[in-house]
Amino acid sequence: MIVDLHVHSNISDGDYSPRELVIMARDKGVSVMALTDHDSVHGVPQALLAGEELGVFIIPGMELSTDKGNTDLHILGFYIDMDSMELHRTLDMLRAKRMIRCKKILKRLRDLGMEIPLSYVLNLGVGGFIGRGRIFKAMVNLGFARSHKKYGDFQRYLGKKGLAYVEHEGLSPEEAIRFILDCRGIPVLAHPRTDISTDTVERLISVGLEGVEAYHPSHSRNTCKMWLDFAKDHDLVVTGGSDFHRISPDEPYGLGSMAVPPTAVYELTERWLKITSDRCI
Ligand SMILES: [Zn+2]
Ligand SMILES: [Zn+2]
Repeated sequence: MIVDLHVHSNISDGDYSPRELVIMARDKGVSVMALTDHDSVHGVPQALLAGEELGVFIIPGMELSTDKGNTDLHILGFYIDMDSMELHRTLDMLRAKRMIRCKKILKRLRDLGMEIPLSYVLNLGVGGFIGRGRIFKAMVNLGFARSHKKYGDFQRYLGKKGLAYVEHEGLSPEEAIRFILDCRGIPVLAHPRTDISTDTVERLISVGLEGVEAYHPSHSRNTCKMWLDFAKDHDLVVTGGSDFHRISPDEPYGLGSMAVPPTAVYELTERWLKITSDRCI
């Protein structure tokens, strides 16, 4: 059984619609796919419909961006309750903050001689998510930057120390975890690298973190093993996925390409059922 628990659609910074992703998943033999768009669940209903039609089990998810010192932490939420009032209220607030940030970045780019209309950036995507990836795409399209990683243009302008970088005023990791729990979901630390201290992760566990994404294309075998051991020691569920956005040289791996053990889905689902039933008592 092939599973992929980390996939982005064009609702955030991916290239394919949720339905196209489900078709791709079906064609690649993926049985279970979690749609985990950045700060958005807008694509979930479409993915659920397509999944039902095409025989792919879809887990409603999202990936929240948070900032912690010099490290960006991403928190995945699985089995999000789409009827939660809190869900839509908070995601609307995050979208509004991203819009403010986008305007600030565009102003800095303008000061650097790059005139990029806000409407142009908005028209590059279908969802309300405006991340640095979309702004960078606008820069590339208008001839202000080169897309390939080897040139380093993204980092030069939009990286943490970039000339036009503006901090994302989103949730803290703790707030993101509580928010996902409020939406009856399972919070999981996305692609933790080795530079995240285990103390930090232990602190997140104390506020409700339930899992770590050990299987990720950016993880070496050792990193994966380290987080598998950590998860075992701390009774965390383990998840994994391709973090697929598009077919490109920067993403040589494809949808469903990570060897994620199917037990990940069973454990995740079991944990979700346990948590939701505990809360109902
Ligand atoms: Zn991420
Ligand atoms: Zn991701």
